[in-house]
Amino acid sequence: MSNAQAHLMRKSFVTHVDENRLMDCMRCGFCLPACPTYIHSDYDETQSPRGRIALMKAVRDGVVEWDGSIEEAFDLCLGCRACEPACPAGVQYGTLIEETREAVLSVKSQSLKEKAIRKGAFDHLFADQRKMKTAVKLVTFYQKSGLQKVVRKVGFLELFPPFMKEMEKSLPDPPKKRRKLALSIEKKTTVAFFAGCLMDTMFRETNRNTIELLNRLGCEVVIPKNQQCCGALQGHSGEMDRARRNAKANVEAFDLDGIDYIVNNAGGCGAFLFEYDRLFENDPALLPLAQQFVEKQIDISSLLVKLGIIDELLKQPTAEATEIVTYQDSCHLRNVNGVKDEPRELLKAVKGSLFVEMPGAHLCCGSAGVYNLLQPEMASRILGSKMEEVKKVQATTIITTNPGCLLQMKVGVEKEGLSGTTRAMHVVDFIYEKMIGKNGGK
Ligand code: SF4
Ligand code: SF4
Repeated sequence: MSNAQAHLMRKSFVTHVDENRLMDCMRCGFCLPACPTYIHSDYDETQSPRGRIALMKAVRDGVVEWDGSIEEAFDLCLGCRACEPACPAGVQYGTLIEETREAVLSVKSQSLKEKAIRKGAFDHLFADQRKMKTAVKLVTFYQKSGLQKVVRKVGFLELFPPFMKEMEKSLPDPPKKRRKLALSIEKKTTVAFFAGCLMDTMFRETNRNTIELLNRLGCEVVIPKNQQCCGALQGHSGEMDRARRNAKANVEAFDLDGIDYIVNNAGGCGAFLFEYDRLFENDPALLPLAQQFVEKQIDISSLLVKLGIIDELLKQPTAEATEIVTYQDSCHLRNVNGVKDEPRELLKAVKGSLFVEMPGAHLCCGSAGVYNLLQPEMASRILGSKMEEVKKVQATTIITTNPGCLLQMKVGVEKEGLSGTTRAMHVVDFIYEKMIGKNGGK
């Protein structure tokens, strides 16, 4: 980087990265054992939260020259925010890394690969739900038409990077046709459903199961039409203006009159929705609306527990445990929303399965939005060690609460050759299967 660019980078850090937030770090190191990249880089301080904060400050103060190793330290951060609950000083690391990425993005030219991924994802796929639906229709055609079998047979997939091949094998089944159900019991609660972009296309079956479970617990579910992708992927990649655009559209799409909760079933999206007020802290016109929106947020596990599903699960006939179930936390659901007990409570209440806690379940699986595409080496190292834990607890079912984690677990199962014995599922699909049956109890 030339002197002029280095100067621009420093200026960009001064503009974007809040000095007071940086100063909150007292360098105690309590966050280090919580950080997956620190653990998986042989305890390299520059790959830790403390090290990264020191680098942010050093760049901002102009005491280090911007170079590839500094950039790599920021790029390798998963953004999992496991460092936040571990921090006694309440350092807002998630905000700092977003500010850092915004600062870098506004100065640095991107590689062709990164440009293509960002453009494809942020300007097309996640910017417009119709395009996402079209993409999923193409995938469904690929799966149903026999093309998938041909592609696999002729070895066409060998032309793609290993991670893409594993992804292809892990694609969820296309959604089945299902009749619309009327609310079967007296209405007790009204919820607005944040359907999500991936969840409402690739995991549509899970969304239908979510609505049906809520209906059976006495919820009327409304689905606001103009909602969009939550903006998390954009925000975590430093594209704050794009993230704010999506957030504004969502805040305006939800009419909160008569709504008890806004429920979501994707941990990563939920955590971003939960912090919409932060995006509008300097926008007095939108802030009150964003605050009301945030107050109504709840994730699906917490809502199911609140609505009394545990009693319903415990009423199920006793059955011998035929599967070992474990849970992989969604980083953001755990570290931002503080939800860790509710999914486990649900799994423990299910008859016919044994819940086993997996060591390190709280650590990121390496999915982290588009991290597994941009940083395949570290993502694969993290996933490999996660799958070792899965094997140790002999899990036959791995439960997650976020689409990215679910795909990553499916990839892990394929990679390890465990697809004959182990499956990965969303918590909603598992509870639905146990309470209602695989085919909706029909
Ligand atoms: S735990 Fe918090 S204060 Fe301590 S080093 Fe980590 S970020 Fe800084
Ligand atoms: S967000 Fe995750 S990967 Fe990044 S510094 Fe914090 S704990 Fe480490």
